[in-house]
Amino acid sequence: RFSEQWGFNNTGQTGGTPDADIDLPEAWDNFTGSNKTVIAIVDTGVDYNHPDLRANMWVNPGEIAGDGIDNDGNGYIDDIYGIDPGSGDSDPMDEDGHGTHVAGTTSAVGNNGVGVSGVNWNAKIMALKGADASGGLPQSATIEAMGYMVTMKTRYGVNIVVSNNSYGGLGGSQASRDAIAASIGAGIVFVAAAGNSGTDNDVIGSYPAGYDLPGIIAVAATDDNDRLAGFSQYGLTTVDVGAPGVAILSTTLGGGYGLLQGTSMASPHVAGVVGLLAGAVPGASVASLKSAILLGA
Ligand code: CA
Ligand code: CA
Ligand code: CA
Repeated sequence: RFSEQWGFNNTGQTGGTPDADIDLPEAWDNFTGSNKTVIAIVDTGVDYNHPDLRANMWVNPGEIAGDGIDNDGNGYIDDIYGIDPGSGDSDPMDEDGHGTHVAGTTSAVGNNGVGVSGVNWNAKIMALKGADASGGLPQSATIEAMGYMVTMKTRYGVNIVVSNNSYGGLGGSQASRDAIAASIGAGIVFVAAAGNSGTDNDVIGSYPAGYDLPGIIAVAATDDNDRLAGFSQYGLTTVDVGAPGVAILSTTLGGGYGLLQGTSMASPHVAGVVGLLAGAVPGASVASLKSAILLGA
């Protein structure tokens, strides 16, 4: 169903403007991603059994599944695909569908004759679940997710290059800012959705997108004519770039595919491109990855 993914390659198939897209076929002529690249999805979890995601799930090499033992000593029992700090366990299965859709945009298996493609054909998905079907992500859960990423990267050598953060709201905190700063300090680009209230983030602050940290890329949503989506928040200094976020086809619960809209869908287009770049140029700094994206947009 690649032909329906207008954000990757807009041929006018949705009635929009041809080439109002992120030029992925052109990028894929050079590079389609690396299975050594790990993209962390901080969200409602990921359906790690989805047929178009399963092969691209990150699997913790130091952990034995289902034995009730913290084999790698990282403080989490049976953390195979990530963790679920929202519930205080290690099973990040998605019960909502939001995170599964986001993960499909960064990393659904490409060129396998099934469903959709991610921006990366074979990059790995780390699932960090902060909420169930009932609601938003509490800051305590996202802070713990940041800590897990830092631990797995700095102490266990997992090559996490970017986190996608398609959540947010009015309230920021010093603790949240500090946790994000630590993840950026570990070399993990922080990509965040600008928000869906149509407001100016320079005037009404929205977090985590709006923290004044240079390693954050805050993403607005555009439509198939390259216009700012009506719902998308924006901000001259607090929002960095726009990406497709209207009628986006990706993976859904139960092995399916469906359309969603929002800056939540725009953000993983950018996180996916960070993954692609970091796979093509191993060791690239957070600053150089962000700069390449902003200069190329
Ligand atoms: Ca463990
Ligand atoms: Ca275990
Ligand atoms: Ca596929």
